[in-house]
Amino acid sequence: MTLEELNNQILKCEKCALCKTRVNVVPGEGSSKSNIMFIGEGPGKKEDELGRPFVGSAGKLLDKLLGLIGLERKDVYIANVVKCRPPQNRDPLPEEVDFCREWLDKQIKIIKPELMVLLGRHSMDRFLPNHKISIDHGKPKRLNGQVYYPIYHPAAALYRNGLLEDLQNDFKKIPKILEIIKEERINNKKGKEGKAEQIKLGI
Ligand code: SF4
Repeated sequence: MTLEELNNQILKCEKCALCKTRVNVVPGEGSSKSNIMFIGEGPGKKEDELGRPFVGSAGKLLDKLLGLIGLERKDVYIANVVKCRPPQNRDPLPEEVDFCREWLDKQIKIIKPELMVLLGRHSMDRFLPNHKISIDHGKPKRLNGQVYYPIYHPAAALYRNGLLEDLQNDFKKIPKILEIIKEERINNKKGKEGKAEQIKLGI
């Protein structure tokens, strides 16, 4: 199945109650061939209106952050843990994340990103449970062969003083992480199964 075929299925999904309040489903967008996926929490008001991820003020910041490392949206794939907007932008409920799990898993299986950048704590909880974003942001981890990189959500950096600098600094580490992943691929390093291991950046 192609990513486009999958996303067409997602557009028709009515598996959880969020289908009743959404305007549009927001499957994700970007390059299906990218080696980086950015995973946010869920669509906000603007995203719900337009059916596209990260198009509001947090999205504008994400675009600027991508620019810091010489990337544009078309170079990466951007998706969310839940594909429909939780009313009033509340946190997604655990059951909504569970219902939507299959869709994100299938997208990841098709894209096969080398690096998954987890934007904020809901995204981090989905892949790296029992971690804390305030402690673990900016620290890439390998789990079952996949490299995850938790960082603050751009929306949090817009509303909380001091987080923007952390977010910019964490973003600037992405090229180095990709370099390490490439070296490790050459050396066929996979890490321990079932245990999140921190990747040392040496910077
Ligand atoms: S949030 Fe996910 S599971 Fe729920 S209706 Fe939307 S696409 Fe389906």
